[in-house]
Amino acid sequence: MNCREAQQALHVAPFTDAADVRAHAAHCKACGHVAIELIRLECVIRDVALSVRVPEGLWARVLLRKRLGLMRCLRRMLHHVLPTHGFACIARRPCRDE
Ligand SMILES: [Zn+2]
Repeated sequence: MNCREAQQALHVAPFTDAADVRAHAAHCKACGHVAIELIRLECVIRDVALSVRVPEGLWARVLLRKRLGLMRCLRRMLHHVLPTHGFACIARRPCRDE
């Protein structure tokens, strides 16, 4: 493993357990420094992410949007697919997304 490969792997997963990456970083000063800096940065990001207060009811709004998106997708499917298969009476309602 060379330095480019080791540093690419470290950028993807600073806490990697990959033996070849860890062995390279342990013996290469430049990659060891990169590993330490990336782990430090990852810890800062985790601390910041965990300190963000989640707004009240956010999870419910996220679920609602997800369900509305699914309903729009199903309506689109009903509008376009069913009439061609002889189920025009089911898909009569116009699709507003277009
Ligand atoms: Zn290296």
